[in-house]
Amino acid sequence: MSIKAAIIGFGGMGSFHARQIKQINSIEITGVYDINPQKVQEGVKKGYKGYSTLEECLSDDTELVIIATPNNFHKELSIEALRAGKHVICEKPVMMNAKELEEVLEVSKQEKKIFTVHQNRRWDKDFRIVKEALDRKLIGKPFYIESRVQGSRGIPGDWRCVREAGGGMLLDWGVHLLDQLLWLVDSPVTEVYAHLLSVKFEGVDDNFKVLLKFENGLSALIEVDTYTFIPLPRWHISTDSGTLVINDWECGGKILKANLVEFKWEEGIVHTSAGPTKTMAPRPVETIDELPLPQMEPDCKDYYDNVAKAVKGEEELIVTPAQAMRVMRIIDAIFESAERGECIKGVDIYET
Ligand code: NAD
Repeated sequence: MSIKAAIIGFGGMGSFHARQIKQINSIEITGVYDINPQKVQEGVKKGYKGYSTLEECLSDDTELVIIATPNNFHKELSIEALRAGKHVICEKPVMMNAKELEEVLEVSKQEKKIFTVHQNRRWDKDFRIVKEALDRKLIGKPFYIESRVQGSRGIPGDWRCVREAGGGMLLDWGVHLLDQLLWLVDSPVTEVYAHLLSVKFEGVDDNFKVLLKFENGLSALIEVDTYTFIPLPRWHISTDSGTLVINDWECGGKILKANLVEFKWEEGIVHTSAGPTKTMAPRPVETIDELPLPQMEPDCKDYYDNVAKAVKGEEELIVTPAQAMRVMRIIDAIFESAERGECIKGVDIYET
């Protein structure tokens, strides 16, 4: 039996949820609510029940609601839905900050209802290739991970440009990259240092770099730019035996790995086209192997199936409240670091 669900906020992402869920059997969208009646009508035209008030939506016989409104409404809508006895999938960023999430998780505990966040980018192909390569130790032990997304179109001219609405790229793409990184690296974050820039949009970060240090010694950079015309690779990972690169979402890239052929330094200085150097001269090709990237075909619809099974008590959630809390605490630290111009330490609770 599928689980009946309603969508709150039937804009870009709300209608994406509806399209995705149409293709699976575990959840059925029965109705939609939006503060904009035109959006409700769009839902009705697609065959869903249209609710004209939140109360009407929450008093219907659905078990689950999916919240896909601008970020500043996530907290109050999640609390109302949980209090009305619904399980909740909330869009990312799960909340505006960790304090809001604490309040919501308290209500979820009291009401004994599931609360999870739509971290769908854990099912991105590029990310799964990286995870597979690291989990299978195809390229040794990483010491530096760079994960970035870069566009040149600026921020869409909607609520994403308004700080009070939860705008800015840290709360938008930043939470995806951070959630992926924390799922990838099995170690607590010990240090956070951030530069958040407002290049074209005053009041919100539209380009940022965040450096994170983990207890196991690994260092990582997450970067989101909306005004870069020549992008760097989506992933660049340095390990103690090689380098992995994934260029973009098409997932072209490669692994170059030191092989067993002994590497010997040249007797004298090496003359490159940029002048003499020993350290930065190219490595002899016979000491390197090129490996293909692992093949992965993840499906982000598996997220919904997992939530449906968790509602029925058949599976544990893949995206847990504790993981969402780690992300929000580090997001808080990133804002604090950027504001104070300092490295922030000791914020990660590291329960997964
Ligand atoms: P959007 O502006 O296209 O849609 C938001 C909708 O919410 C609008 O139709 C608006 O009328 C409605 N709304 C606003 N306030 C409301 C309220 N109080 N109650 C009910 N409806 C309300 O925005 P979007 O791009 O769909 O983003 C919505 C959410 O989805 C955001 O939290 C965003 O971060 C998230 N999102 C997630 C992903 C992802 O990959 N997981 C991608 C895009 C957006």
